[in-house]
Amino acid sequence: MASITLPPGTQLEAGTLQFLSDTRLLWIDGDWIAPKSGKTFPTINPANAQILAEISLAEAADVDQAVQAARKAYETTWRRMLPAKRSTLLWKLADLIEANEQVLAELETLDNGKPLAQARADVKGAVKHFRYYAGWPTKIEGSTIPVSAPNKLVYTKREPLGVVGLITPWNFPLAMAAWKLAPALACGNTVVLKPAEQTPLTTLMLGPLAKQAGFPDGVVNIVTGPGQPTGEAMTLHPDIDKIGFTGSTQVGKKIMEAAAQSNLKKVSLELGGKSPNVIFADASLDAALASLTWSSFYNTGQECTLGSRVYVEAPVYDQVITALRKSAAGLRIGNGLSNPDLGPLISEVQMQRVLGYIDAGKSQGARVLIGGERLQGELSSGYFIPPTIFAHNDDALRIVQEEIFGPVVVLAPFDGYESAISRANNSIYGLAAAVWTQDIKKAHRFAEDVKAGVVWLNGYDLFDAAAPFGGYKQSGIGREMGKSAIELYTQEKAVWVSL
Ligand code: NAP
Ligand code: MG
Repeated sequence: MASITLPPGTQLEAGTLQFLSDTRLLWIDGDWIAPKSGKTFPTINPANAQILAEISLAEAADVDQAVQAARKAYETTWRRMLPAKRSTLLWKLADLIEANEQVLAELETLDNGKPLAQARADVKGAVKHFRYYAGWPTKIEGSTIPVSAPNKLVYTKREPLGVVGLITPWNFPLAMAAWKLAPALACGNTVVLKPAEQTPLTTLMLGPLAKQAGFPDGVVNIVTGPGQPTGEAMTLHPDIDKIGFTGSTQVGKKIMEAAAQSNLKKVSLELGGKSPNVIFADASLDAALASLTWSSFYNTGQECTLGSRVYVEAPVYDQVITALRKSAAGLRIGNGLSNPDLGPLISEVQMQRVLGYIDAGKSQGARVLIGGERLQGELSSGYFIPPTIFAHNDDALRIVQEEIFGPVVVLAPFDGYESAISRANNSIYGLAAAVWTQDIKKAHRFAEDVKAGVVWLNGYDLFDAAAPFGGYKQSGIGREMGKSAIELYTQEKAVWVSL
């Protein structure tokens, strides 16, 4: 293991250091297993570009071993387990995640870069998610159908899909794993889970925690490695029944292709976004401005729902710009362990991508009001870009149309409702949207007219395990969370009985 340089005044839990001390193996059939090729790859701390740990690289043969373990567990134990027992195990896993909050948060901060308090909030969110879905196994009901055939009884059951492959991104590693794992397991599926190569640590820790909770071996398997070959081997595997994916729209399309090419596995996709955040002149500006800094820059802008396109009604445009500029300039940036407001970007690649967009914005004529360059000095060894604000009035710009996934927000003025809604909907994406107004009719009209899977009226980025979440247009297929995720991880069977 490489040595970890800590910011002054910080120290890590013994459990965190212990988890980083060995090469991390794959978690298959209830045990740590070395990959057949013996290959590894490093995971990096984006705050200083140091190697944190060597991680095993799963190839197709390793993925196959994980799928076989999952299939066996599905057929021999998990699908037959009494629903109440599955509930107990999910609740126990939630308790164990909660008990390990500090270690999980430290691992997440080291691996992803996010501020420690935000990593802790992610752990708490994962706990809530497991607790919410722990209630579901005993409530997955079918129905009876009044068919118009004589002497027939028809009833339906919702059954698990079988072995599901779950592929997650690097921006909320533990939270995204929980969003998928909890409903998939509650519904009676066994899983092969692949975290993003940049952030495998917290997901790997779920393996032994599931074992400790009492999950039978093979129910939860975790394979690590890049999209190619690891993720691709999952999407092409003939014995995986479904892929649950969160990531980019581009990779989402590849997953659909692989599913079609192999066994027509089911696919649910949570993809990119470029969400409009619309502020009318009749809004409570105090509330809108209090939310705007975080809805623009939370997680260093690496969040699919962020309000990365802000439209402000002309009479209050200058006031909003001035306020955002001031609050963004006040954000503290630094190593996540020292608990700043914003951490680094995830990787050199992502940082260069974001800098490329900033250049494109400048060369296409948008005005940079603040930020725009990589931070130097103390933070120069990490991947730090400060909050960057562009003012523009041309929705055709690349920085307005494309997902940047960094601390870059674009603002434009508008005149009147029709202009606001048509500009809000001028996107290939449709993940989230928000509107700020005190006119209740205008707010609901916007909620009806906007093409997005989640809409916040006078709020931003509100989530709950019980509320459905997912995208319109190229932001995805399917809805996670709540009852919707039960539909994503089960299939309906109609049974005909001759009386
Ligand atoms: P990504 O590049 O699409 O990767 C997502 C996951 O897919 C990673 O585990 C990745 O592995 C894997 N992958 C890559 N190529 C693959 C392939 N050919 N077959 C199977 N798996 C493959 O996305 P990211 O850069 O990690 O995350 C950022 C994107 O995710 C953004 O576009 C963001 O909007 C989106 N996102 C959406 C939501 C949502 O809920 N809608 C939430 C968070 C993020 P490796 O990275 O290890 O190569
Ligand atoms: Mg990392």
